[in-house]
Amino acid sequence: MPDDAIGRPDLPLLVSARPGLRDPRPGLSGLAGDELRTWIQAAGEPAYRARQVDDFVWGRSASDVETMRTLPAALRAAIGAAFRADTLVSTSVREGDGGLTEKALHVLDDGRLIESVLMRYPARTGQRERNTVCISSQAGCAVGCPFCATGELGFQRDLETAEIVDQVRTWQGRLAPAGRRVSNVVFMGMGEPLLNAERVIAAAEALTDAQRFGLGARHVTISTSGVIPGIERLAIDRPQYTLAVSLHAARPALRDVLVPLNRRYPVLDVVAAASDYARSTGRRVSYESVMIDGINDTPADAEAMARLLAGRSAHVNLIPMNPVAHTPWQPSRADRIAGFAATLRAAGVATTIRRNRGIEIGAACGQLAAEQAPAPAPDAVQRRRRHLEAESSAALVEAAR
Ligand code: SAH
Ligand code: SF4
Repeated sequence: MPDDAIGRPDLPLLVSARPGLRDPRPGLSGLAGDELRTWIQAAGEPAYRARQVDDFVWGRSASDVETMRTLPAALRAAIGAAFRADTLVSTSVREGDGGLTEKALHVLDDGRLIESVLMRYPARTGQRERNTVCISSQAGCAVGCPFCATGELGFQRDLETAEIVDQVRTWQGRLAPAGRRVSNVVFMGMGEPLLNAERVIAAAEALTDAQRFGLGARHVTISTSGVIPGIERLAIDRPQYTLAVSLHAARPALRDVLVPLNRRYPVLDVVAAASDYARSTGRRVSYESVMIDGINDTPADAEAMARLLAGRSAHVNLIPMNPVAHTPWQPSRADRIAGFAATLRAAGVATTIRRNRGIEIGAACGQLAAEQAPAPAPDAVQRRRRHLEAESSAALVEAAR
């Protein structure tokens, strides 16, 4: 899909970006299959050197070739000239939720900014501690959902496989000294994973390969706004990843406004593709809905979603919207969300209401990176808000017919 097919090509690039100036050296964590082995052999080194490098990359989350002290200095220099031990040039971390949520802002080689979040869930009776990392798949996003800070940035570029994997390795490197480990990975940061499907799938493979990062496939969640070819590809590959579909509205006219990709991949077809994924993998699909006051939380919306999902292998997460500056919208009231959940449950659709984690550190999708972007002019924000109000009320009238 061309970058400008949907979304906001008119938005400015980040000030710090130096587009085009990319580091040509591939990241070690993005190398596929035997690439490293082949390179080591071609360099005249014994095969066990490749295992040593793997141990640094995967076992010790190394971010600098110079720390690979068991390798001869000449080999360290050669590896450093050919590859990057870490594709994230720098990372700054902010804490929230009393230390249970941490958010990282990563700078890429061309100055682009992406984010990832660590959410720690301490052990409870019968449940082990979980350390869930939420990662980005693109810098910016072309889909342009109007409640999303990443959507407001517009599309910048796809991440490389190593740039995706290195977000997880960074958190693993921070957790390891305390004897902790990343236990779950969710592709719910910046970007639409299935518009960068090749690299996202390669990254998920590296994260779930027992010889590399070694997570169970069921501990990886891929969230999509509904890119049908990507969902179909996952259904054919049949990994055991959890598929999360960002639904937000069952009524097509309203979903056109909330998820502009709906005009290309309509909601009924998206849900059909997700149901095929559930059938071919045996995995229940997660449906997410960001709850926006007076927009998608009405009884009619709840009934439409219940009709759409009843009888399917589905689980719905209702998430109060995190406020973002450029929208006129507010999060739904708690009683509205409870009523919405009751309607879904009455139709037999398993439903949970998710507490927002890390609001005070801007942990909602794309919000930290968006803070780094130049603020749009107040009159542009006003125009955008009026446009959204008009579009959403037209959609509500259309849906009520
Ligand atoms: N592009 C993919 C994955 C990244 S977005 C997708 O849309 O599924 C991850 C999740 O963050 C999505 O479910 C999205 O709806 C949610 N999100 C985006 N902006 C939000 C906001 N302002 N408040 C709450 N959730 C938000
Ligand atoms: Fe992109 Fe997901 Fe944000 Fe929509 S919600 S703009 S698809 S990142």
